[in-house]
Amino acid sequence: MQKQFLMISDNLKLVNSRIESIQSDQDVELIAVSKTRSVLEIQEAFNAGQIHFGENYLQESLEKVNYFKDSGLVWHFIGPIQSNKTALISENFDWVHSVDRFKIAKRLSDQRNPNLGKLNILVQVNIDKEKTKSGVFIEQVDEIVSEIISLPYICLRGFMCIPKAENSSDSFSKMKDLISNYPSLDTLSMGMSADLEVAIKNGANLVRVGTDIFGQRSYN
Ligand SMILES: *Cc1c(COP(=O)(O)O)cnc(C)c1O
Repeated sequence: MQKQFLMISDNLKLVNSRIESIQSDQDVELIAVSKTRSVLEIQEAFNAGQIHFGENYLQESLEKVNYFKDSGLVWHFIGPIQSNKTALISENFDWVHSVDRFKIAKRLSDQRNPNLGKLNILVQVNIDKEKTKSGVFIEQVDEIVSEIISLPYICLRGFMCIPKAENSSDSFSKMKDLISNYPSLDTLSMGMSADLEVAIKNGANLVRVGTDIFGQRSYN
């Protein structure tokens, strides 16, 4: 409970030292998951040196992205995507982690303003085949990768997953095996507050941390 009374900057130091404590060959970047958080909280994290931020809900994110326009923050969309929202996502974000249909990728590419450069994309993999989670099954990855890779205004970078809490180590290791089949892909987005160390040991490049930076959320 005490955690909530620490400053965001202290929490960031703790999370960054957890990341640095893990020996790994790959680069690891911390994404501060700022869903439900205010611009003041984001400003505090940014002042403490945090650059990458993740948002799940388009509506609430637009105000924040706009507020920090041209300030150097890098925005990652990590929530479920409705096809009628792709234009706004494509315009306002630098990365999208939750692509699980070719149709969505195609729309994001078609709607990307070429002046912004290519949009970075990750395919979300439902690594534990859970009914409650989105993402493609591992068997479907080959097909969606081959379709997406030729789209002009997106750059397919790799995969994202949200594993079952109980066996995340096995799931992360499957993701590591998966990406090793695709030499042109360089990014695994996996690991959250509770399991970032295990994720990094299994090759994570982007870890997505909310609670351990900003405290408990009042909704998910
Ligand atoms: C909320 C969320 C996170 C952050 O989870 P914490 O447990 O608060 O660190 C990471 N990834 C996704 C996709 C999320 O929705």
